[in-house]
Amino acid sequence: MSKHAPSFPSRVWSRWMSVPLWLQILIGMVLGIIAGITLGDDASYLKPIGTLFVNTIKMLIVPLVFCSLIVGVTSMQDTAKMGRIGFKSFGFYLGTTSIAISIGLLVGYVMQPGAGLGLEGAKIVSEVKEAPTLMDTLINIVPTNPVAALASGQILQVIVFAVALGISLVLIGEHGKPAIRVFESLAEAMYKLTDMVMKLAPYGVFGLMAWVAGEYGLDMLLPLIKVIVAVYIGCALHILGFYSVVLTVFGKLNPMQFFKGIGNAMAVAFTTSSSAGTLPASMKCASENLGVNKKISSFVLPLGTTINMDGTALYQGVTALFVAQAFGIDLTWVDYITIVLTATLASIGTAGVPGAGLVMLTLVLTTVGLPLEGVAIIAGIDRILDMARTVVNVSGDLVATTVIARSEDELDVEHYNADMEQSALIAQHNEVDIQQKVAENVKSNS
Ligand code: ASP
Repeated sequence: MSKHAPSFPSRVWSRWMSVPLWLQILIGMVLGIIAGITLGDDASYLKPIGTLFVNTIKMLIVPLVFCSLIVGVTSMQDTAKMGRIGFKSFGFYLGTTSIAISIGLLVGYVMQPGAGLGLEGAKIVSEVKEAPTLMDTLINIVPTNPVAALASGQILQVIVFAVALGISLVLIGEHGKPAIRVFESLAEAMYKLTDMVMKLAPYGVFGLMAWVAGEYGLDMLLPLIKVIVAVYIGCALHILGFYSVVLTVFGKLNPMQFFKGIGNAMAVAFTTSSSAGTLPASMKCASENLGVNKKISSFVLPLGTTINMDGTALYQGVTALFVAQAFGIDLTWVDYITIVLTATLASIGTAGVPGAGLVMLTLVLTTVGLPLEGVAIIAGIDRILDMARTVVNVSGDLVATTVIARSEDELDVEHYNADMEQSALIAQHNEVDIQQKVAENVKSNS
């Protein structure tokens, strides 16, 4: 053997590093499930690896959203265009969410997940948190103290402040330029940091999956398996069926390319159950794999993360029917329509964090007079449902971003259709381009 031949561990390591990230994440997920089932309760010792990963991505959210949104707004210059994109995003989000809940209701109606559970008259003591009202949500989007909003990670408030600051920086012309350059440089640094953090995803995903598989085991799942299957079928229909149609009809795009491009974000969403936490991964997928201009993704994605929750709405449809069936309560057509309206509105106020949908479920159940005890039953398996609905939430945001970018001529279709390796090359090329531009800027200003 030559003196400089790499050792066995370093060969394994370099082999591992040459595996594409999405495959690394998938391997982490499968190994995590195996570890969780084998170790049972002891798998909780692996949870800190997952928590560490979640903390690192959470660390990115506020500075990433804040800086990239300001850069997005200031680079748009055209305020009419911004208004149009905001309007389109909002309409798109509300439309897809109401379709999602209708799919949820349909699946719940056909599969009857709660039938025969025989809970009529049952009284289960449950502690249920109050959901915020829609009015509270609307009033609170303007931060009284932007620093507090940044510090406490109130994303909707951060969006409002960043957009306002971005517009003001454009309006003051020359005076705004130095600050814009600072934000541009910070945004680039945040993209780089996201890149680094995403390399930790396979290990974090391993820890999180081991913990979930260890905690739930099979015994606890069996009685409620029908609800789980119903929610997962609904989510699959929405993603593979409805989103494919939207991408084909409204975006004139090949859905397969889309799903290939968002694999990393989906894996992070599935394991973290947090669309806010997945935001850095979604932004990276949108610009690097799908070819969406960062101007669009930096605005439409954070907005979607906070107000667009197709998966959550779908889950509320299935679970509301589950509760009605389990407690033997018949619903009228008016109740169905009320569920669609409340769940659509509730999804605006749902935070992109684990378990938020369960809190909002109380709002939907109360509005149609269903027993809140149902929430306690669902709570036992909520994490498993949360994983699937968060994947839908994140995919929905990315569909909207892609279709809106396409309609604004801000989608690089060649990049979108390129295979993964070509995409990486294009992304690298763009990065060099940006760095050159920054260097030229610095030169011309010095
Ligand atoms: N966990 C979901 C999300 O972050 C929200 C929910 O609980 O439904 O998108």
